[in-house]
Amino acid sequence: MERVVNFSAGPSALPLEVLERAQSELINTRTSGMSIMEMSHRSKIFEGILQEAKTRLRSLMNIPDSYQILFLQGGASLQFSMIPLNLLQKDHQAAYIMTGSWSKKAYDEAKKVGQATIVASSEDDKFRSVPDLSSLKLPENTAYLHITGNNTIEGTRISSLPNIGDIPIINDLSSSILSEEIDVSSYGVIYAGAQKNLGPSGVTIVIIREDLIGHAPKSTPTMLNYETHSKADSLYNTPPTFGIYMINLVLEWIESLGGVKEMEKRNRHKAGLLYDAIDQSNLFKSPVNKADRSLMNIPFTTGNDELDKAFVKFAADRELLELKGHRSVGGMRASIYNAMPVQGVQRLVDAMNEFEKTHAV
Ligand code: PLP
Repeated sequence: MERVVNFSAGPSALPLEVLERAQSELINTRTSGMSIMEMSHRSKIFEGILQEAKTRLRSLMNIPDSYQILFLQGGASLQFSMIPLNLLQKDHQAAYIMTGSWSKKAYDEAKKVGQATIVASSEDDKFRSVPDLSSLKLPENTAYLHITGNNTIEGTRISSLPNIGDIPIINDLSSSILSEEIDVSSYGVIYAGAQKNLGPSGVTIVIIREDLIGHAPKSTPTMLNYETHSKADSLYNTPPTFGIYMINLVLEWIESLGGVKEMEKRNRHKAGLLYDAIDQSNLFKSPVNKADRSLMNIPFTTGNDELDKAFVKFAADRELLELKGHRSVGGMRASIYNAMPVQGVQRLVDAMNEFEKTHAV
C-alpha cells in the first residue's frame, strides 16, 4: 500500500515502523492474549508500559530527578487552565509572552483564574516574529512566565530565554517537544499535547518541577490538581491507555535512531531544504522573520489566494496532503514533525519547483 505524504499540523503523521508494530500487536499485546485497549490500567503489563514510557522520556530529554512526568488528558488546552489554577497564587500575577493564537488562548484562560499580564508581544508584527526577550522586565509578584516555545500556526519559535532569576518559566511545547535538544532545568513546567511529535491525540504530557506541585487552593477540582496525578503516578483515574502505549513505541523509535540529538539534526536538515527552496523561489515567500523561523511548521505563500489554492491542489494530486495554511493565516503550511521523512520534504520541494516553472508570475 502506498502511503501519502502527510503535512498535517496535528494530529500528524506517525512513523510507519511504529504503526506497523502497533498493528502487529493490536489484538495480542505482549503475548497477553488481548489488545492493549482491552487491558486494565491496573494490570502489570500496562503499568509496565507506563513506567517504560516515563523512563524513556526522562532519558531522551535528560529530565532531572526533581521533575515529575505526568500523563494527563484534556489536551494542551486544559493546561491553559491547570497552569494558573495550580501556580497562580492570590496577590500574584501571571506573565504571558504573546506570540500567536495559542499563547493568546493560554492568556485568556489565565485571566479567568486570576491576574494575568502580557509582558511582551509580537502582535503588532502580525506574529511574524517573536519579541526580543533579552531585557524582559517582569512585574513584581510574578508567579510564573508563560511562553509558547513553538507557534504552530504562525511558524515561529522562541530560541533564547529571558533571564528572570527564580521565576519559573512555563513552556507550551506542543508542536516541538523532542524535536531539538533543550535544557529541561530551565523550566518550571513543560507541557505538550501528544498528537504532533509523541503519538495519537488524547494524551497530554506534563513535565513539572516537584516544588511547583501541591500549591493549588483547596477548592481546586480534584482532576485539575497536579498533586492528584502526581500522588497517583498518572493512574488516579483511567488514563488513555492506548495513547500511552503508542507514545512508548514512538519514544523507542526515537531511541533507536539516536535520540533527540539525531532528531534535531534531521529536523534542521529538513527545515533547511524547505526554507532554501522558499528563499530561492521567485514565486513562494515565507512570511516569517528569518531568525525566528520554526523547524516544525513552515508557512509559505505566493501572495495570491488563487495561486495558493492551485498549488495546494497541484500538491494533493502528487499525494502531498494537508498543505492548506491555517484559516487565520492563509497560504500554505507544511508541518514537518519528527515522523516526516526527508524524502517527504524533498517531494514537496520538487513539486514547488515544478509548479513554479509553469506558474511563475
Ligand atoms: N498549543 C499549541 C502550541 C498547539 O499547537 C496546540 C494545538 O495545535 C494546542 C496548544 C492545543 O492543543 P490541544 O488540541 O491538545 O488542546
